[in-house]
Amino acid sequence: MNSQKLIEKLEQLSISSNELDIPELQRVEMLNQVAGFVNTFINGLNTIKGFNEKEIGNLALQNNKQSIPELLNLYRREVAETGINAASPKHLGYIPGGGVFTAALADFIAAVTNPFASVYYASPGAATIENEVVNWLKSVFSFPENSVGALSSGGSISTLIACTAARDKYKIKNEIIPKSVVYLSEQAHHSVQKALRIIGLEDVIIKYVSLDNSHRIRPDNLNELIEKDQAAGLNPFLVIATAGTTDTGTIDPLNEIADIVEQHKLWLHVDGAYGGFFILTSKRNLFNGIERADSLTIDPHKGLFLPYGVGAVLVKDANAVLHSNYYTANYMQDGYSEELLNSPANLSPELTKHFRGLRVWLPLQFHGIEPFISCLEEKLLLVIYFRNKLSELGFCLGPEPDLSVSYFWYPFETDLDERNRQLMNEIHKDGSVFLSSSIINEQFVIRIAILAFRTKKQTIDEAVEMISRCLKSVLQGNTK
Ligand SMILES: *Cc1c(COP(=O)(O)O)cnc(C)c1O
Repeated sequence: MNSQKLIEKLEQLSISSNELDIPELQRVEMLNQVAGFVNTFINGLNTIKGFNEKEIGNLALQNNKQSIPELLNLYRREVAETGINAASPKHLGYIPGGGVFTAALADFIAAVTNPFASVYYASPGAATIENEVVNWLKSVFSFPENSVGALSSGGSISTLIACTAARDKYKIKNEIIPKSVVYLSEQAHHSVQKALRIIGLEDVIIKYVSLDNSHRIRPDNLNELIEKDQAAGLNPFLVIATAGTTDTGTIDPLNEIADIVEQHKLWLHVDGAYGGFFILTSKRNLFNGIERADSLTIDPHKGLFLPYGVGAVLVKDANAVLHSNYYTANYMQDGYSEELLNSPANLSPELTKHFRGLRVWLPLQFHGIEPFISCLEEKLLLVIYFRNKLSELGFCLGPEPDLSVSYFWYPFETDLDERNRQLMNEIHKDGSVFLSSSIINEQFVIRIAILAFRTKKQTIDEAVEMISRCLKSVLQGNTK
């Protein structure tokens, strides 16, 4: 191609390629259209259902251009109004959170400015924001200043980073793997087993520690298991405790577990993905000992009510984390003299990533911490309120929870599990409020998880009315 042709071709291409860079007037119009959509969505949250089962229409990529209003309409119909409405106050299943608005603004700003937050040299400001969020978390959980941390996509990846650090510190590889033992509770989240498989530890021995009547790990049993295994020539190395179990809202006795783990020189990982931020509330005492963990998982997209996609991990032993995550490459050499620990990329498997620090930092700077704490305290009281109401209706309740998750069942005279399952189905068909179920002590139970920041007393009243309505249908045999 001669240079005249080349210039002509470039001019031609730029007509189409420029379409990606939207001019200001159109940007303003688009922002208004999106703002309109978002406001209608938020205004409707109290009146639309918590759960809507619907066949999904055509979302395949079309080879023709569509306008923002058309796309917003499609999104509303097929995404925002289907399945579990996770932004709604009426999401009381799994572990909700909600997604505060200021975090969405932060995401928008992060996406437009698009800083490369993983490497200090590339964006010292963005990397510093990520690091300051980690520093704040260290102070919340009384972790020492020289511990390290990373913001991840969620609890699962945080746990993966923590288990990898434990693996590397204890050099669990090759022929040592099948002799190595991990201790956990039946109530531990399945992301732990998943992480072990992913990091090549599928063949370690997993021992389940017995639990007390409130689903807490029994320290005496943990100690007994470890001593027996050591005597038998096995290699205990990792104990997982949970600060807020997903199914039962239980906090394991962290101090007593830490005593045992220290005595035997093992690694203690605490999973606070759901419960961690309740350390900021009147329940603080239940978290005593969390600062003794070697690593900790926490999920701002649960207990800080941020939109899905931000978890965090703290680890005391920086070298254990660097072992697998720090690696240099020639094309990274310009940034490489910078302080190792200032670059988030050295502490997690991710290199190029979403600048997720901003969606934690901005809401905390804007609101301050108080409203977050009030929300958490409110959830603790709402679960008590809910349990009282259900007890009045004749339901059986699981043990008093440490936090804001609880379970219940109705004492039907026959076919207990089958009929509680029917009740769950009725509740899902009704959908005004979303609850989920579980199996606890081999029994089918219905769970309530109160954590969405928008959930209020009115929501719980609605949930109780719905449960009572659905119970009536099951008792009268009128199930749909
Ligand atoms: C939700 C949860 C996880 C998993 O976290 P994700 O953010 O969903 O990956 C791990 N542990 C506990 C206790 C949880 O509640």
